[in-house]
Amino acid sequence: MKRAIYPGSFDPITLGHEDLIKRAAATVDELIVAVLVNPAKNPLFSVDERVKMIKEVTGKIPNVRVESFDGLLADFARKENAQFIVRGLRMVTDFESEMQMAQTNHVLNENIDTIFFVTSLKYSYLSSTTVRETAAFGGDYSKFVSPEVYAWVERRMRDLKS
Ligand code: ADP
Repeated sequence: MKRAIYPGSFDPITLGHEDLIKRAAATVDELIVAVLVNPAKNPLFSVDERVKMIKEVTGKIPNVRVESFDGLLADFARKENAQFIVRGLRMVTDFESEMQMAQTNHVLNENIDTIFFVTSLKYSYLSSTTVRETAAFGGDYSKFVSPEVYAWVERRMRDLKS
């Protein structure tokens, strides 16, 4: 059983993330999308909200499971019996830190290999930060996220203003 973990902040999940999830899920037997509990960041959505949102948009892909985790990714991978970590590469700027993380994770857990997917051209500009900033300044971010996620962000923006 080939099991991979796709870790990230997903604050919120974008069409770029979704594209990568579809491609990775088609490559392995089970893909675990894992939302990182990162107390250092000040997120727009709580971890539970992000898990719910990701479940909504990936519900139709049978071999995708959504979880959250804190602590070391290498330990979470061991616990889940996963052999692979999936990450996306958008630009060269992603490369250096991703390479370092992949090598660190392999040292911490030698059963783990990182698989990189090159981002689809049409989503290579896209990040969760782009979505949050465009939404905060009243721009049209409907091309960046699924309709379900759009509704979550709209609600959050309204709540923040009231
Ligand atoms: P992190 O804070 O851990 O980088 P993100 O949610 O920003 O979490 O990203 C999670 C993963 O998804 C990373 O591997 C990142 O390179 C990848 N990713 C981010 N945006 C895109 C995109 N537009 N297309 C494909 N992959 C992406």
